[in-house]
Amino acid sequence: MKYISTRGDQTPRGFCDILLEGLAPDGGLYLPMHYPKVDADTLARWRTLSYADLAFEILSLYIDDIPAADLKRLCQTTYTEQVFGTPQITPLKKLQDGLYLQALSNGPTLAFKDMAMQLLGHLFEYELARRGEELNILGATSGDTGSAAEYAMRGKKGVRVFMLSPNGRMSPFQVAQMFSLQDANIHNIAVEGVFDDCQDMVKAVSNDLAFKRKHHIGTVNSINWARLLAQVVYYFAGYFQATSGRVQSADSNSQKVSFAVPSGNFGNICAGHVARMMGLPIHQLVLATNENNVLDEFFRTGTYRVRATAETFETSSPSMDISKASNFERFVFDLLGRDGTRTAELFGPALAKNGGFTLGPAEFAAVAGFGFVSGSSSHADRLATIRETWEGSGVMIDTHTADGLKVGLQHRTPGVPMLVLETALPAKFAATIVEATGQQPEVPAALVGIEKLPKRFSVMQSDAVALKQLIEQVCT
Ligand SMILES: *Cc1c(COP(=O)(O)O)cnc(C)c1O
Repeated sequence: MKYISTRGDQTPRGFCDILLEGLAPDGGLYLPMHYPKVDADTLARWRTLSYADLAFEILSLYIDDIPAADLKRLCQTTYTEQVFGTPQITPLKKLQDGLYLQALSNGPTLAFKDMAMQLLGHLFEYELARRGEELNILGATSGDTGSAAEYAMRGKKGVRVFMLSPNGRMSPFQVAQMFSLQDANIHNIAVEGVFDDCQDMVKAVSNDLAFKRKHHIGTVNSINWARLLAQVVYYFAGYFQATSGRVQSADSNSQKVSFAVPSGNFGNICAGHVARMMGLPIHQLVLATNENNVLDEFFRTGTYRVRATAETFETSSPSMDISKASNFERFVFDLLGRDGTRTAELFGPALAKNGGFTLGPAEFAAVAGFGFVSGSSSHADRLATIRETWEGSGVMIDTHTADGLKVGLQHRTPGVPMLVLETALPAKFAATIVEATGQQPEVPAALVGIEKLPKRFSVMQSDAVALKQLIEQVCT
């Protein structure tokens, strides 16, 4: 499989080339030249596979520059009961007949980003060793992404992580998760400033191209195709579980299911779009936002309007607080019949200048053929959904999952199972859970007391020069 850019550059690239890269040279995102189609016989064969073997089958359709035996081993090392807590890796929890939660957050950092990031850690280590190269991952975080990256890269050969976070502004639990890591290749930097200061420092260092090249600076952000590909697997795994009662019937693989997806940067649900393009029988992809409803607005109106910082709300589902959706361009490219010139027109420099775009009527009409519907949720909705789920089913859900469930319930179709993706565990967002239910959420045994562990981090002024000095010191 070769990869092309969403902005028209057709120069074919291999999977391992784009693995270690960010944007395509023309500023677009990478996508496979086509989506391999999966027929009913293949679905029937995959139905009984373990999660790791299913991952191998799906990944090998998109990766031909890693020998099959190596890729299989990487999948089997990644998706283990030891790391993800259960043999199913992403088990379903039944809430009502035909309504399920799919657990994606039983990995080391209790959020769905582990599903992809853990694989990325193994892929990076493998590919860097093969090339005899090193990579210094530089990132800024206000929570989930940074910790998922650190837990994926800890102890990996050839990789160092420099993660900036705003000093004193993360929850004690998040701070403990990150700063208690003692691995020599993980560098936590607490910046005297806010999240935007951290991001500005990362940008300043990345814009110094000579420094970037000399020190092999890279990122692990959500536009990485390998992360998206890893996420495709759990849509298949969820589908097989939700339809398993029908395994014996002739139409077992024509039963459709819907997924409700708590969304921010459009990474998670874009993987659902890819699974659907491959032929997985998905009826609807229900996109749920919080008060930051950029994407809900698009799917209702055809207008994509990037929000200014002042218009971006801090909510109780903070991992969905976005002003623009960094993976959205991938879907629009497919929606426009893979017209790279038109995609470049919409997402190139004009996007920043105009603050967004409105699709033409015919372009927007095409959305209906891709199965997307949407809705948004508020703080009050989250509280009510968390409380009702706790009282009705005895299941505690986190704030992001609550957004997904609330919107998912508005889009149920009789006879079609609805799978709500559980993107984090409630233990990460205890304050809102207590507000909704009066109860403290359960903390997984492995994480009880982490707030008391010794912490390893350095404090820095919001100063890119100091950051470069630190990187230079560590790397020489
Ligand atoms: C990142 C994240 C999301 C949003 O996922 P996207 O891929 O950005 O759409 C939702 N919930 C949680 C808990 C997350 O960490």
